[in-house]
Amino acid sequence: MAYYVGADIGGTTVKLAFITEKGQIVHKWEISTNIHNNGEEIPKEIVYSIETKMQELRIPKEELLGLGAGAPGYVNTNTGLVYEAVNVGWKNFNLKDKLSQRLQIPVYVTNDANLAALGEYWVGAGRNIDHLITVTLGTGVGGGIVVNGQVVNGIDGSGGEIGHVVVTPNDGPTCNCGRRGCIETYASATGIARQGLEEVVKPVDTSLKNIFATTGTLTAKDIFEQAKDGDLVSKQIVENTTNLLGIMLANLATIINPGVIIIGGGVSKAKDTLLNPLKRAFEKYCLDHAFHNCEITIAQLGNDAGVVGAAYYVKQHMNKK
Ligand SMILES: [Zn+2]
Repeated sequence: MAYYVGADIGGTTVKLAFITEKGQIVHKWEISTNIHNNGEEIPKEIVYSIETKMQELRIPKEELLGLGAGAPGYVNTNTGLVYEAVNVGWKNFNLKDKLSQRLQIPVYVTNDANLAALGEYWVGAGRNIDHLITVTLGTGVGGGIVVNGQVVNGIDGSGGEIGHVVVTPNDGPTCNCGRRGCIETYASATGIARQGLEEVVKPVDTSLKNIFATTGTLTAKDIFEQAKDGDLVSKQIVENTTNLLGIMLANLATIINPGVIIIGGGVSKAKDTLLNPLKRAFEKYCLDHAFHNCEITIAQLGNDAGVVGAAYYVKQHMNKK
């Protein structure tokens, strides 16, 4: 057998997997992300963990085709340099060199969300659809764009950063990127909760007030559940969120003409309470022709999308040679 190794590096864990040439995970595991010393030890710990697993599973080095690694930041995909990954502490960090020097197999590095898009394209909800968009609604809003079967990295690694498309330019909330009104400030789990917290201090009747009084907090999940149960304020938040997300996706679809838009992340667990109003907004704003050719659906690979996409990224690059 021959395997790809996928590594999906996040702020709390590094997800790792051995993956077949057909995209099947044969073994997956996690290590915690060592953010001490500005994340300097992370590559060493990844390599050590892979080598330990190889011994455990009796996989000889000759059977490893290559390692794909996703980093949570902008990456120069030619050199493997991560410009900045705030969550793990890296700044101008040459991840590719550090991994390949130790492991002695081909290493390819790119942005984690872009790899998740490739994973869904290879064996997930976007199988055989050469033009697609993925959106991950989690703590932030991540995304990836696949065109002609290739993920869009852009000229210098910030391609596909759809969470930072501005939807309310003048008076929007401040985003982590320093600008205002990015879709992330509304459609992330954090952004949806923020909209709920803004409502509970107003003199309007909403069941969110009871939840806040009992638990001292509000989550995106609470808001979707209350919207489903008919709470008007919660419904309004869902409507506002899906309307803005619909504008952003309709504009992207008008440019790209994708066959599918795949929604993932924790917020996507709301399923139809999210998808139905989102589809309506998407139809309202999208160019007709682009709308009629595009499904909106829920992601299939969950947390595995990154490692699977990392394997596919290696496969694509090795086939080019
Ligand atoms: Zn932003």
